[in-house]
Amino acid sequence: MIPYGKQDINQEDIDAVVDVLTSDFLTQGPRVPEFEAALANYCNVKHCVAANSATSALHLACLALGLKQGDWLWTSPVTFVASANCARYCGAEVDFVDIDADTYNISVVELEKKLINAEKAGHLPSVLVAVHLTGQPCQMEDIYALSRRFGFKVIEDASHAIGGRYKGKPVGNCQYSDITVFSFHPVKIITTAEGGAAVTKSEQLHKKMLLLRSHGITRDDALMTHESDGPWYYQQIDPGFNYRMTELQAALGVSQLKRIDRFVKRRHELADRYNKLLSSLPIILPWQHPDSYSGLHLYVIRLRLDEISKSHKKVFNELRAAGIGVNLHYIPVHTQPYYKSLGFEYNDFPASIEYYRTAISLPMFHAMTDEQQDRVVQVLRDIVS
Ligand SMILES: *Cc1c(COP(=O)(O)O)cnc(C)c1O
Repeated sequence: MIPYGKQDINQEDIDAVVDVLTSDFLTQGPRVPEFEAALANYCNVKHCVAANSATSALHLACLALGLKQGDWLWTSPVTFVASANCARYCGAEVDFVDIDADTYNISVVELEKKLINAEKAGHLPSVLVAVHLTGQPCQMEDIYALSRRFGFKVIEDASHAIGGRYKGKPVGNCQYSDITVFSFHPVKIITTAEGGAAVTKSEQLHKKMLLLRSHGITRDDALMTHESDGPWYYQQIDPGFNYRMTELQAALGVSQLKRIDRFVKRRHELADRYNKLLSSLPIILPWQHPDSYSGLHLYVIRLRLDEISKSHKKVFNELRAAGIGVNLHYIPVHTQPYYKSLGFEYNDFPASIEYYRTAISLPMFHAMTDEQQDRVVQVLRDIVS
């Protein structure tokens, strides 16, 4: 089976992890701050908090922004469930904004309409999670302008987008957001096995996320309610969590980050090849906004079902049966039983459902060979022609 995504591990990565195993610290040592500094530098942003997953980082981001019971978080239905679940962890409500038919990212037109209605009804969102689906940045400048006009905070879920650029600047620089979150799950662009990070320009948000990452415990005298009892002393001032990344993961991250530009460049070569080789098939190729240089976590095609004699499911099954590890990103979150139980209806977000009816993620990863890609193209051509 040619997988849809796969990590790329070399000898340097292995040596970096083994070095940590024989060092003094397996956790809470020097590697995590080193990884955080390297990531912040790469993204051209001031602060970084590494975490044990992007899911944890999204939770920390929501808490740091003060999201709480009675508040609303909005996001796109076409994302991984974690982009919405982070609100529920804080006791907040979730609503969705339908996608743009070309980029599959949150539609700025729909967002503005919904904000105008929400303002009239008196329940504007506190936080918007803008998901850079497939690695293509959302229209952040427009989203930022709306956030100023309607008074909400912005988290970029850039789990797909590290290494990408928006208007020439690195995703994660937080020019148009409060916090940006990355995932380092093995299928993503760089990996730490499990892992994630939140980056921000704000010193205050940085401090808050650091505190909550480690039990809400501080050793900073300035934050304590009274003078320290002695050198052993710490205070717990918030109900925090253990969301820490290990030293092993951070060392792998530092090593992987050195190759990120190569990874993204290869993904672009593969995408360009797919674009050429698939251009005559009855499918819609991924459209790229001129403002974006995608991280290209995913290559998503959409079937023109009126020109194909098979159903979406049949095409998908035949690809899998032929050893092509296709996938579908994502089942619209509002259709999940948990979100249905909160009151969402299947057809609430028609563009997202239309996307779901036709989308297929083709295999794409750094180590994919041209021969493997040719095989994917040939099998797909035979199935849809
Ligand atoms: C992978 C992913 C996450 C969750 O990442 P983890 O590191 O596995 O917690 C969140 N949002 C999006 C869009 C993702 O693709």
